Amino acid sequence: MKLLKNKALIDGRWVDASGGGVFAVVNPATQENLGDVPDMGKEETLLAIAAASKAFKDWSSLMPAKRAEILKNWAKYIEEEAESLAVLLTSEQGKPKGEAISEIMSCVATLRWCAEEGCRLYGEFIEGAKPGTKIIISRHAIGVVGAITPWNFPASMVVRKIAPALAAGCTVVLKPAEATPLTALALGELALQAGLPKGVFNIVTTSNPKLVGEALTSDVRVRKISFTGSTRTGKILMKQAADNMQKLSLELGGNAPFIVFPSADLDKAVAGAMASKFRNAGQTCICANRIFVHQDIYQSFLDRFMTAAGKLVVGNGLEKDVSLGPLINIQAIEKIEQMIDSAKKAGAEVLMGGKRHALGKTYFEPTVITGAPLSCSLATEEIFGPVAALYTFKTEEEVITLANDTPYGLSSYIYSENIGQVWRVSDALEFGMVGVNEPFLANDLAPFGGVKESGIGKEGGKYGVMEHTNIKYRLWG
Ligand code: ADP
Repeated sequence: MKLLKNKALIDGRWVDASGGGVFAVVNPATQENLGDVPDMGKEETLLAIAAASKAFKDWSSLMPAKRAEILKNWAKYIEEEAESLAVLLTSEQGKPKGEAISEIMSCVATLRWCAEEGCRLYGEFIEGAKPGTKIIISRHAIGVVGAITPWNFPASMVVRKIAPALAAGCTVVLKPAEATPLTALALGELALQAGLPKGVFNIVTTSNPKLVGEALTSDVRVRKISFTGSTRTGKILMKQAADNMQKLSLELGGNAPFIVFPSADLDKAVAGAMASKFRNAGQTCICANRIFVHQDIYQSFLDRFMTAAGKLVVGNGLEKDVSLGPLINIQAIEKIEQMIDSAKKAGAEVLMGGKRHALGKTYFEPTVITGAPLSCSLATEEIFGPVAALYTFKTEEEVITLANDTPYGLSSYIYSENIGQVWRVSDALEFGMVGVNEPFLANDLAPFGGVKESGIGKEGGKYGVMEHTNIKYRLWG
C-alpha cells in the first residue's frame, strides 16, 4: 500500500523502538494485519521531546510567512496524495472511502487556513494607566506541544492539532491512537517531503499510551497538552499535567441532543439526523446521541428516518456504494450490544437492526430504537455506534431541560424554521456548539470545542491558533 510506513518519526528520521518491539495495525473490515509499527515508551518519547525542544528555537523564530509556505506545501502534497491517503485511512479505520477523502481534504483546508492565520498573530498597543506609559502586548509560541489523538478521524484529528501549533511556531510530539497510527505516519512522510525541518513534527507510536502520556506530562519542556479522546483519559491527563502547569486543550466526549421542532423542514431534518448519526458508523464525538422529535411530527419523522436508514449499505469501506463501514473493534460492538440489551429490558422497542451484521467481524446493523427511558445508558452515555435512539417531547421548555440533562456539553442540534425559537433554544442549550438546521459542525474557520465534561479550549479558527500562544505584556515607562 502506498505511503505505508513501519517506523516512527523522531528528529526527522524514521526509527524503530529502542528494544525493537512492534505492534500490529489491523484492518477492521477484513481483520488482516496491515503492518507492524514500533511499540515505543518513555525512552523514545524523551528523545522526541528533546528533538522538538531543540527544533523550537529555529522554528519559532522563522518568519511566519516562511512557516506558512512550508505548511501550504505540505497541504499540496496531501492533496496530491488524497486518494492513497484515503485508502490507507479506510483500511485502518473502516469508514467509507468517500468519507475518508472528505477527511483528507479537510486536512488540506485546515493547513492552508492555519498557514494564513499564523501570519496574523497581531499584538496590541494600549496607552498606559499612568501618564506617558504604554502597554505593548505580543504573542509568542508556547513551546513544545504534546498531542494525543483518537482513532475515529486518523487524519483530521492529527492535522487539527498540528496545523495551528506549527503555524503559531510551536513544535510537536504526536502520539496517534494505537488502532490508527498509519495515516499519521503517512502524513509525517509528506511533511518531510514538503520541507518541514527535522524535529518540528515527531511521531511516537505505542500500544501503551499510558507510558507516553506520562512522559509527555511529566516533562517540563512540554508546555501544552492537546488531547482528543474520552473524558476519562482527559481527566487523567489534566491531573498529570497539573504538576508542570502545562496548558491544556481537551476535546472530550459528547452526548448530543438532536431536536426536531414542529416547524422543521422534515426532509432536511431527516437528512441531518442521518448524516449526524451514521457518519463514520456513529463513531464521532458530535454524533446525534439523543434524537428528540416533537410529538406532533414524530410519526412522519420516524417513517422517513426508517426509510433513509433502510437504504444504508453495510460493507468494507473500500467497496463502491458502501455507506456504513465496520466498527473499530469487537469491544465497540460489545458496548453497544450491552446498551441495546439494557434498553430493551427497560421497555425499548428495536424497530430496525439491533444486532451484529451477517457480514460478521465488527459489522453492526443500522439500528433504530424507540421508547427507551432516558435513564438508560443509551441516553446517558455516548453510543459510538450506528444506533439511533428516538424520543418524543411536548414543549420547548421540556426539551431544553432534557437536552441539558447531561454532564457533557459538546455539540447540539436544532431543526426549526421559527426564528424566535431558534434564538431562544440555542441560547438555552449548555453546549459549546449548536447546529441550526445543519449537522456538519467541524470546519477550519470555527472554534470547535465543548463545555462541562466535554472539555476545555477550542480547536479551529483563529482561536485554535491563539491557544498555541502565550501573551506577553510590556509596560513602557
Ligand atoms: P477512546 O475510547 O476514544 O479510544 P481514549 O481516551 O481511550 O478514547 O483514547 C484516545 C487517545 O488517548 C488514544 O490515542 C489513546 O491511545 C490515548 N490514551 C488512552 N489512555 C491514555 C493515557 N492514560 N495516557 C495518555 N493517552 C492515553
